[in-house]
Amino acid sequence: MAEETIFSKIIRDEIPAQKLYQDELVTAFRDISPQAPSHILIIPNIIIPTVNDVKAEHEQALGRMMTVAAKLAKKEGIAQDGYRLIINCNQHGGQEVYHIHMHLVGGKPLGPMLT
Ligand code: C5P
Repeated sequence: MAEETIFSKIIRDEIPAQKLYQDELVTAFRDISPQAPSHILIIPNIIIPTVNDVKAEHEQALGRMMTVAAKLAKKEGIAQDGYRLIINCNQHGGQEVYHIHMHLVGGKPLGPMLT
């Protein structure tokens, strides 16, 4: 069983977060430290620490994360201009919270991706 992070507490409403969406598979909430006008995190409700831990049984939840990203981008009004979806993995990828999460970032032109 993977270790819990602060995101498990957000899923269970044990700490405050600006939740935008939740269903039986995924949860989405505004990043506490936004890097752009729209900065949303989309996470699976089950703990998958990193992309390295992804298995076939996670495909439904990971697919739902994409569907929710597309819906929220439209709702945020950033779909037409565009946005970026990012999943960081481990130290070189800049991952800080070891509960897989997709950043949905947009609302302004974004700079080069590979830094
Ligand atoms: O991909 P990475 O692990 O670096 O991203 C973690 C993200 O989780 C950060 O953008 C941070 O601001 C966000 N965070 C949050 N709410 C918390 C803790 C972290 O939105 N309570």
